[in-house]
Amino acid sequence: MEKAINGIHHITVIASDPQANYDFYTDLLGMRFIKKTVNFDAPDVYHLYYGDEIGAPGTVLTFFPFPDARRGKRGTGEITVIGFSVPSDSLNYWINRLAELAIDFDGPSKKFGYDYISLLDPDGMKIEIVADPNANNIMGWNNGEIPAEHSIRKFFSTTFYLRSSLMSEELFTKVMGAKLVGTEGNIKRYSFGEKASEAFVDIYEDGNTQRGISGAGTVHHIAWRTANDEEQNNWRNKVIEFGLHPTEMVDRNYFHSIYFREPGGILFEIATDEPGFMIDENFDSLGMELKLPEWHEPKRQLIEQILIPLRTKAFVKQN
Ligand code: ZN
Repeated sequence: MEKAINGIHHITVIASDPQANYDFYTDLLGMRFIKKTVNFDAPDVYHLYYGDEIGAPGTVLTFFPFPDARRGKRGTGEITVIGFSVPSDSLNYWINRLAELAIDFDGPSKKFGYDYISLLDPDGMKIEIVADPNANNIMGWNNGEIPAEHSIRKFFSTTFYLRSSLMSEELFTKVMGAKLVGTEGNIKRYSFGEKASEAFVDIYEDGNTQRGISGAGTVHHIAWRTANDEEQNNWRNKVIEFGLHPTEMVDRNYFHSIYFREPGGILFEIATDEPGFMIDENFDSLGMELKLPEWHEPKRQLIEQILIPLRTKAFVKQN
């Protein structure tokens, strides 16, 4: 039985305009668009997936773009920052790239000894690009936007903004196998997973701020990695033992999931690494067509009429 959660699987964020979202994460950040599907629970909304070139767990950022969504309001009970790892010598490349394209960013600054810059996506979601020595050991890839040596490798961290963090920290350490790796000012950093799958959670506790309001630019949920159904069921039992209320397993086609709200108010998912994004498309054609799970296929025509067309580009692998 797994003793620790093996890092982040994916993070899902609410967006507004799908095209602006696509352009930012593929053209500017150089992520690969790996799946165009719908929110399985509300199939009149896209579910857009970005990641590394195969959409490996630990690299996958996904969005529910509601075209006329209002912006959320920042507050507690939320994930307020998503950080990505780039190799330790790549931060200057990113600084120059953003400066040349006249994209606003803050930094470089330092947190827990790591240099990083931050910028906002089109809906105001805060993204950090972090120089991470761990990323030096992970192969990069190039789709024509970002040279392989500088490409985003994986998630580095997220920031949990909580009114009270005590019970969340108990869940992290006693159930999920996370380790406290440092404290800096009023931020505590926890580590989940190891080596290539390691990701940090920075806890920022603030007892005086109201709960956030969900909307465009806010995180919907974070999913943690587990290998397969059997291990997921073990996690489910542990979460129940801790006193929380996970759902039954839900089939998300590309992975299987359970969901529960952690004590600080953030929606957690535990998702299997299997079967992955190549279950219904091959490597070259990932993201090229609207994919629906079989139970939504009968409604394809209606769904396609409702969704705003999205202009996507073919993936051309470069060396
Ligand atoms: Zn999810």
